[in-house]
Amino acid sequence: MRIELVNTGDELLLGDTINTNAAWLGQQVAALGLMVSRHLVVSDGAVIKDAISEAASRSDVVLVSGGLGPTNDDLTRESMAELLGLPLELDEGIKAHLEDFFARRNRVMSASNLKQAMVPRGALVLDNPFGTAPGLYFPAELGCARGWNTHFFLLPGPPRELKPMMEAHVEPRLRSLLPDGASRAIRYFKITGLGESDIVERVEKKLEAVPGLTLGYCIRQGDVDVRLSGQPEPVAAGEAIVREHLGEHIVSTDRRLIEQVVVHALAERGQWLATAESCTGGFLTSRITDVSGSSGVFGHGFITYANEAKQKHLGVPAALLAEHGAVSEPVCRAMAEGALAASGADHALALTGVAGPTGGSDDKPVGTVFVGLASRGAETAVRKFFYPGTRDRFKLLASQAALDMLRRRLSGLPMG
Ligand code: AMP
Ligand code: MG
Repeated sequence: MRIELVNTGDELLLGDTINTNAAWLGQQVAALGLMVSRHLVVSDGAVIKDAISEAASRSDVVLVSGGLGPTNDDLTRESMAELLGLPLELDEGIKAHLEDFFARRNRVMSASNLKQAMVPRGALVLDNPFGTAPGLYFPAELGCARGWNTHFFLLPGPPRELKPMMEAHVEPRLRSLLPDGASRAIRYFKITGLGESDIVERVEKKLEAVPGLTLGYCIRQGDVDVRLSGQPEPVAAGEAIVREHLGEHIVSTDRRLIEQVVVHALAERGQWLATAESCTGGFLTSRITDVSGSSGVFGHGFITYANEAKQKHLGVPAALLAEHGAVSEPVCRAMAEGALAASGADHALALTGVAGPTGGSDDKPVGTVFVGLASRGAETAVRKFFYPGTRDRFKLLASQAALDMLRRRLSGLPMG
């Protein structure tokens, strides 16, 4: 099945809005075992018609985002109606939804909003509980007169409206459109603590030997997604290989980030985490608190950048700092244990290192970082890592190493 995407909006071309819908829709389509063949970004206005007919001429499905709003430049609905030669008719259900939407917010509905209640004859309305613009589905029959055999879905531009509509209304329809023989599977493995070349070395030849299996990688800083797709059988065979050879490095198989995995694991156990950060300046804590539900597992974060702060808030002895320096195994251990005691948490992660570009020395070059994990009822672990490069990259990789130490402890895996 060939699927194309048309994203509309001047803001996308001007660079004012990043086209996150294209990325997200690409992932959703991939999760169905398919791939978006092409996407087009066009400005508001008449050009939408050309873009849609171009996409329709070579696809089974066209997903369009944006331009369903109430303003003059929102022309997607009208463009589709013209293309397919369908009259626009007032839909009383949508009108009622719009009136209710505004009444609940104590706002007066302007006349321009009524435009959103117009539906090309024969199109199906897709509810939008999060906004005013309903989506529209045009079954393939509606385009027959133009010689097309294409299903069209028009979706609102704002991601918080588009996403729930895609999940609730579009994906079930796409599934039902898939021919039975095309049952394809896709699996993602989020891998951390191994570089791309390590992963290649461990599994690539073995995976390539599985007939009918397609292998892909998405490499980011800190982790790598290994993607297996194909018919369910080869994907299952590939999964067994990945599990055998990358086992303890697999963070998730459902695309969750390591911070999500860790927060969920703490929540399941009813345990609390504290952090003590020096060189990462709160970056680890920021990642943890990005996760919804983190308030149930995270209570105390100490940013102790100066030695004085390490002494005052974490009880790191001045003598220890004087003897070993702030970037050292003993100080990292004392920071983790101090944070555990001061917070009453079950686990405490501590980081101290040299982010650079200045401040390095022969025995502690820029990029050196110690990560400590103190946990109730377990021995404190401290590991040394080396992440030279920019400060951004250093913070990201150091926080990743910390999260991985905690993930390993929570999963009963060796510290690595
Ligand atoms: P529209 O439905 O075209 O009026 O879009 C309304 C809002 O959705 C604007 O704030 C856009 O910036 C946002 N938006 C539209 N298209 C996209 C897209 N492809 N990715 C992310 N945001 C978008
Ligand atoms: Mg727009």
